[in-house]
Amino acid sequence: MRQFVLLTGSGISADSGLDTFRSSGGQSLWARYDPDVVCNFDVWEENFELVHEFYSKRRMELADVEPNAAHKMAAEWQKKYGAELITQNVDDLFERAGARNVLHVHGRLTALRCLACETEWEWGYQAFEPARDRCPHCGGLHEVKPDVVFFNEKAPLYQKLWERLDSLSHDDLLVIIGTSGNVLPIAGIARHSRAVTILSNLASEPAIPEDFFDHVLHGRAAETAPRLDALVARILSES
Ligand SMILES: [Zn+2]
Repeated sequence: MRQFVLLTGSGISADSGLDTFRSSGGQSLWARYDPDVVCNFDVWEENFELVHEFYSKRRMELADVEPNAAHKMAAEWQKKYGAELITQNVDDLFERAGARNVLHVHGRLTALRCLACETEWEWGYQAFEPARDRCPHCGGLHEVKPDVVFFNEKAPLYQKLWERLDSLSHDDLLVIIGTSGNVLPIAGIARHSRAVTILSNLASEPAIPEDFFDHVLHGRAAETAPRLDALVARILSES
């Protein structure tokens, strides 16, 4: 069977109403906190309380949104076609849509990690309260970090991402949804991929020359989902 990889960015979850870094309007959490302070590995320990306040609010925001048609389509693709889901998103909306084994290359909002003892644990949608909460393994406090990859922090799962993308051949399918191409080099990925490539984005992005893709769809992720689903079905039936 041919391989099918889906790679997604924040655009897919923005359509569920989740604030994103780039959509920072006046009410956005991202507008009220400076990402260079609360998402920066170089200075997060100096801003420990503020970092946890920001991520606690993001967790609670996540509890209030629902997966949309695009998340559900991805979960269906996994069941129907064995699609592999790789995401830059730290939310759990794919899992809540029924997907399993999602590769979260930028970590997960609903988990915490202790840098002292390298324990990772599920935290759900709760606030992390420095006055109350500790690492369950070593009892540490100031090493407890949201299990999300910050700016200036290594992303160990990138290795797996590159291996998967490199393994795709001419018969395979690579679908990319909702990404600006500013974090991962989406243009280069499409240009060098041997697979059939589909891009589904809200609109053209300056960082992504779209002629590197075999197929391009524009529109909100949830609204574009039925068209994209039909295109994927057609391509996979041609193999
Ligand atoms: Zn620990």
